[in-house]
Amino acid sequence: MVNIETTAPVMVTGATGYVAGWIVKELLDAGLTVHAPVRNPDDHAKVAHLKALAASSKGAIRFFKADLLEPGSYGEAMAGCELVFHTASPFKIDVKDAQKELVDPALLGTRNVLEEANRTSSVKRVVLTSSCAAIYGDNADLLNTPAGVFNEDIWNTSSTLQHNPYSYSKTVAEKEAWSIAGKQHRWQLVVLNPSLVVGPSLNDHPTSESFAMVKQMGDGTLRMGAPRWGFGMVDVRDLAKAHLAAAFTPGASGRHIISGHNTDLYEAARLLLPTYGDRYPIPRRTMPKWLLWLVAPLAGGGMTRQAVAKNVNLPWKADHGRSVRELGTTYRPLAVSMNDMFEQMIQRGVFTKA
Ligand code: NAP
Repeated sequence: MVNIETTAPVMVTGATGYVAGWIVKELLDAGLTVHAPVRNPDDHAKVAHLKALAASSKGAIRFFKADLLEPGSYGEAMAGCELVFHTASPFKIDVKDAQKELVDPALLGTRNVLEEANRTSSVKRVVLTSSCAAIYGDNADLLNTPAGVFNEDIWNTSSTLQHNPYSYSKTVAEKEAWSIAGKQHRWQLVVLNPSLVVGPSLNDHPTSESFAMVKQMGDGTLRMGAPRWGFGMVDVRDLAKAHLAAAFTPGASGRHIISGHNTDLYEAARLLLPTYGDRYPIPRRTMPKWLLWLVAPLAGGGMTRQAVAKNVNLPWKADHGRSVRELGTTYRPLAVSMNDMFEQMIQRGVFTKA
């Protein structure tokens, strides 16, 4: 539990998003005033849950209109804030124009928000939601790590605009953040690098790629088997608490891997079997790498043969020790996160529409 020592408003970019929803909830429950710059404050479907959270909390929320691609648009929302959470960035795998849909909002948006922090004298700390995607591109990269494990010293050098463009967008955006932060001394930058985020959402219609990933475990896509595609996973509620710790822990600095579990797609899906296996086509066996490689170009969803070759049957392993030691992060069992998320998707009719 962090000690919150401010009464100043705090700004959260991307407040309408999956991850940010839980951060906003934590801040509101702590009694803080949240400034939420969003693309369209009048979009009831996107902000209603945030208004409801504020109404049932000790805190308050104010909406502002801003866009990552509009320079200067975060000024009004940031005025008077000591703390800025920059979470806004598109998380999509299947894109047509990676530069426009991913890299521009990630990179130019980070520049836009952090240059605003430079102009806003009240700002003391910026917490950036980066990603493990800024640390590694493919699981094959693990073979080139000094200790056979991903840690905060490592940067993603394998992603490009063509190969893993989302990971590329997060890498260039985080580098830009460190570059801007390093040219001044008034505010500190603290970076969180979460792995794949799972767990229930507070927004009713989440667009985050996390939901597409878990949906395929129950909609029949993986009926014939799930690949042993290694990755890390973290619960969205644990990640939100880590954001608050990054914001309010005196002396916090640097990057922090926020990842509860080293796992893979098959293993994660198996956690759903005891409760849902008799009602939903949860994968019961592994999909051979050669088969996925063969069908990859037809599979859609941004899947490529190169990605299959460099990720399937290759483990993902990260050291989250720094988050535990320096931020006091705790990680709940993955089965809890997966089952809570899946149950919510059932209640929302996600699978009946499939
Ligand atoms: P999400 O639900 O899709 O949230 C993305 C947010 O970014 C939304 O609030 C969206 O606003 C906002 N956004 C996108 N383009 C924008 C623009 N041009 N101007 C202003 N706002 C814009 O995704 P998420 O999973 O919560 O991701 C949040 C952050 O966590 C991202 O930085 C992502 O890279 C990072 N992350 C996520 C995961 C994961 O597994 N989910 C893992 C590691 C890191 P609208 O509501 O208006 O679209």
